[in-house]
Amino acid sequence: MPNPSPVIAQWFAAKQQNPDALLFFRMGDFYELFFADAEAAAAALGIALTARGEHDGAPIPMCGVPIHAADAYLARLIRRGFRVAIAEQMEAASARSGKAPLRREVVRLVTPGTLTEDALLDGAHPNLLLALARAGATLGAAWLDISTGLFETADTVDLPALLGRLDPVEIVASSDIPLGDYNDRRAPDTAAPPPLAARARVAEAFAVASLDAFGAFSDAEAMAAALALAYVRATQAGKLPHLSAPAQHGTGGALAMDAATRASLEITRARDGGEHTLLASIQRTITAAGARTLAAWLSAPLTDPARITARQAAWSALTGSAVPLRVALRGAPDIARALARLSLGRGTPRDLGAIRTGVSAATEAAAALPADPALISYAGPLRLDPALHAQLAAALADDLPARSGDGPGNNNVILPGFDGELDAHRRLRDESRRVISGLQLDYAQRYGVAALKIRHHAQLGYVIEVPAAAAETLRAHPGLTLRQSMANAARFTNPDLADLDRRIAEAADRAAARENTILAALTATILQQAPALRAAAEALAALDALQSCAALAATGVWSRPIVTPDRAFAISAGRHPVVEAALARTARFIPNDCDLSPTRRVLLLTGPNMAGKSTFLRQNALIVILAQAGLPVPAAAARIGIVDRLFSRVGAADDLARGRSTFMVEMTETAAILNQAGPNSLVVVDEIGRGTATSDGLAIAWAVLEALHNQVRCRTIFATHFHELAGLTAAMPQMCPHTMRVREWKGDVVFLHEVGEGAAGRSWGVHVARLAGIPAPTVRRAAALLTAIERGAPSDLPLFTALPTSPPPLDRLRLALDATDPDKLSPREALDALYNLKTLGLSSE
Ligand code: ADP
Ligand code: MG
Repeated sequence: MPNPSPVIAQWFAAKQQNPDALLFFRMGDFYELFFADAEAAAAALGIALTARGEHDGAPIPMCGVPIHAADAYLARLIRRGFRVAIAEQMEAASARSGKAPLRREVVRLVTPGTLTEDALLDGAHPNLLLALARAGATLGAAWLDISTGLFETADTVDLPALLGRLDPVEIVASSDIPLGDYNDRRAPDTAAPPPLAARARVAEAFAVASLDAFGAFSDAEAMAAALALAYVRATQAGKLPHLSAPAQHGTGGALAMDAATRASLEITRARDGGEHTLLASIQRTITAAGARTLAAWLSAPLTDPARITARQAAWSALTGSAVPLRVALRGAPDIARALARLSLGRGTPRDLGAIRTGVSAATEAAAALPADPALISYAGPLRLDPALHAQLAAALADDLPARSGDGPGNNNVILPGFDGELDAHRRLRDESRRVISGLQLDYAQRYGVAALKIRHHAQLGYVIEVPAAAAETLRAHPGLTLRQSMANAARFTNPDLADLDRRIAEAADRAAARENTILAALTATILQQAPALRAAAEALAALDALQSCAALAATGVWSRPIVTPDRAFAISAGRHPVVEAALARTARFIPNDCDLSPTRRVLLLTGPNMAGKSTFLRQNALIVILAQAGLPVPAAAARIGIVDRLFSRVGAADDLARGRSTFMVEMTETAAILNQAGPNSLVVVDEIGRGTATSDGLAIAWAVLEALHNQVRCRTIFATHFHELAGLTAAMPQMCPHTMRVREWKGDVVFLHEVGEGAAGRSWGVHVARLAGIPAPTVRRAAALLTAIERGAPSDLPLFTALPTSPPPLDRLRLALDATDPDKLSPREALDALYNLKTLGLSSE
C-alpha cells in the first residue's frame, strides 16, 4: 500500500481514535471530511462531494463546511443521529516548520448529550445525558446536563418511568441493559468502573475526599455517576465542565408515570410532534431557563404535600405583583448555559457579557420581589458579589462580537481604560496606522507622484504603489526596490516600510494576545464563583416559572388546588387546557365536575363517539399532574388527595397513529397497570378492548374494570363504549356510572359535552356516521338494521345474535360471588355482601 500523504496520515490517526464519529478535520477556514465520512455527510447535508488527491490509486472523496457556518451543519448532523469528532489545528499557520503538516488534535466529540452551543440546543428543554449501571440486582442511574451543570442520581430505578420522565437525548449503558423505545439514543457501549473505583473517581472530580460528602450513594448509583463523568470527559478531550455536586433524586419524591402515560397525556411532547402540549398551554415564561424549569416541574410532579404547598405559596405571593420581576427577567440571559461554555474553555465574549448582564438581572430581580416568606428561598441566591459585576462592567464593551478576535484589528472586546498594557499596544498599533498615512503624503511629495499610495499586500507587506507611468521615476531612487510590475502599476518596498510593517504587526499581535489574557483572567474570576452563579441562575429560572403560574392565576380561570394526604378527589368545573385552547375561536369549552371520593371512586363513563369522553378522562389526569407539580389548575376548585402513580391508557383503536401491533400493546400496558397500581394511584382507561372482537373486548373491559374496583381499589375513570358495564353497579358498589349528555334534535344528535350520572341509553353510532359524512343511503340502511337488531336479533343476522346487550343476571350473581373474598370482609361488609347476593339472586329468577 502506498504511503498516504502526511495530512491524510494525520487524518487516519485521528479517525482511528474516533471510529464511530464523522471527523471534522480543520484545514484553514474549513472543516473537511474525507472518505466514507465525506460521502455520508454530503448525503446528509446535501452538499457537494468532491475529491482531493489520491489514496491507494483512487481519488479521495472529500466535502467541507466553512467554519463560520459549522454550528448549523453540526446541528443537522447531530439531529440525524451522527456523532462528530472535531480535529482542530493546534498551531498557527505562521508557526509551520518546514514541510510537516500543522499539528492537529481531536478536541471534542460532539454527541447529542454533550452539547453546549445555543445553536445546537433547544432553549426550552433540558438536554440530558443518562448513564445506567447495574450492581448486583440494583440498577443505578445518573443524569446530567452539561449545558446547565445539573447532575442527579437515583437508585433502584423503575427504568421505563425514569426514561419517560427524563426523556434523555443520549444514554450510556452497557448493552445488557435493555432500553426499549429509547434504544436509538444509546451511546457506543461503555463499561462502568467497579464500585470502589467509581466512588473514588466521582469524589476526585468534585475534589472531595469521599463521595459520602454528598450523601449515601449506593454502589449502582456511584457506578452510574462515574460512568456519566467518564463519558463526558471522553467527549471533551479530558476536560470536565462545571457540574453541581451529584444530588440524589429520591424516587419516592415524584409522581410515577411511565412512558405510555406521558405519551398519552402529551405533557411536554405532542404525539404528532406538534405544539399542542400541556406545557405549551400553561407556559407564560419569559426566559429559556424558566421554560426549562417549568418543563422539569411538569415532568416530575411531587408527592410531598409540604413541597407542593410551598410552590403554590410562592406563586400566590407573586400574583398581582409580578410586573417588576418580569421586567428584570426580560433582561436576563441564559446564565447557566453561558457558564457551561466558559467552564469548558469554549466561552465567547458574549458568554462573558451574559454573566455581566445576568448578575445585574439577578440583583434587579431580588429588588423586584415582594417581601413574602414564601419567596425568601428564591431571593437569597440572587444576591451575588457586586465586585464581579463591577469588574465585568468596567472590562467589557457593550456590543460584543460572537468570537474573540484572533487577528489584528479585531480585538474590541475590552474597553479602553481597563488595562494600561492593552491600551499601550493599541496606541502603538493605531499610531502606526497614522504614521502610514503621514508617510504616504511624504513619499508622494518626495517622488513627485501625486497618485502614490501605501498599501498592504498579503505577501509583500506594506508597499509603495504607483501608476506604471511613474515607475521609471521611482526606479531611479536608490533605497527603493521594485517588487512587482504590472500592466498599469508598479510596487516598491524600502527598509523603513519593512520595519514599520513589522512594528504594526507586532503591536496588533501584542494587543490581541493581551486581550486574550484579560479574557482568560475574567473567565477564571467568573468560574471561581460558578456555584453562586449557578444557584442564582436556578433561582431566576424558578422565579420565571413562578411568575408564569401567577400569570395564569391572574386570568381568574385557573385556581390553586388543595392537596391533601388522603384519597380525596373532587374537581369542580374542570377543563382540558389543550382542547380548550384549540376550541378557543370556534366553540366554548364546557367545564365538568369530577368526584372520585372513596364511596364512588370508580367513574364509569359511557356515551357516543365524539361526545367528549377522552377529553374528560384526560383533563382530570392533567389536573392531577398540574396540582402535584404545584401549579394552578384549570378548574373552579379542586381538592386532590396525593396520587402516588398515575396511569393513562388509550384503547388500541384510538391509538392507531402510533402504528404498533395495537391489541398486544394495549394488553401489555393494561397488565402493567394491574401489576403496579395501588390504592393511592389514579388510573384513567380509555376504550379498552376496542382492538379485538366485540365479545372479547367486552369480556376484557369487564374483567379489567372489576380488577381495578375490587383488587387495586384505586381512583379510576373508565371510559368505554360497552354500555353494558353500567349494569354492574350491584357487583361493584363503589362504581358510579356516568354518561356524556346528548340531545336529539330534528333527528340529529347534539353533543352537550356534559358529564352526568347515569348510563347511555343508546350509542348514537348511526347518527355519528351521518355527521361523519357516510352517504345517506348507507346511513338509512344502518338505521334499519339497528331497529331490527334492537327488536331482537332476527335470524338473518346470525353475526349479531351473539352480541351481548346487558350481562345476563346469572353472570352478575356469579361475578359478585367471584368478587367476594370471605376472608377479607369485616362483619359489616359481610352482611352487605349477603344482602347484595340475595338481591342479585332474586332478579335472576
Ligand atoms: P370521545 O372520546 O367521546 O369520542 P372526544 O373527547 O375525543 O370524544 O371529544 C371529541 C371532540 O369534542 C373534541 O375534539 C372537542 O372538539 C369536543 N369536546 C370534547 N369535550 C368538550 C367539552 N367539554 N366542551 C366542548 N367541546 C368538547
Ligand atoms: Mg375517545
